[in-house]
Amino acid sequence: MRCDVCGDGEIRSGRKPKVMRRGGRVAVVTDIPVEERPSCGMTWLDGPVARSLDDLFREMLAVDAVAIRP
Ligand SMILES: [Zn+2]
Repeated sequence: MRCDVCGDGEIRSGRKPKVMRRGGRVAVVTDIPVEERPSCGMTWLDGPVARSLDDLFREMLAVDAVAIRP
């Protein structure tokens, strides 16, 4: 799969933190496995990772005003 932005095909696995804000609440999840294009800095999530992350953020934002999880 080539990148739409820079046309490069190189992909690297990495880990990134992600922040979600909703209604004055903040949730941070660290060490999320992402696919990364070193050439342009684009990152994106695998389908299953994105879904479980959605669930995790929903759960965190329902309970705590500020939540940080690895
Ligand atoms: Zn790119």
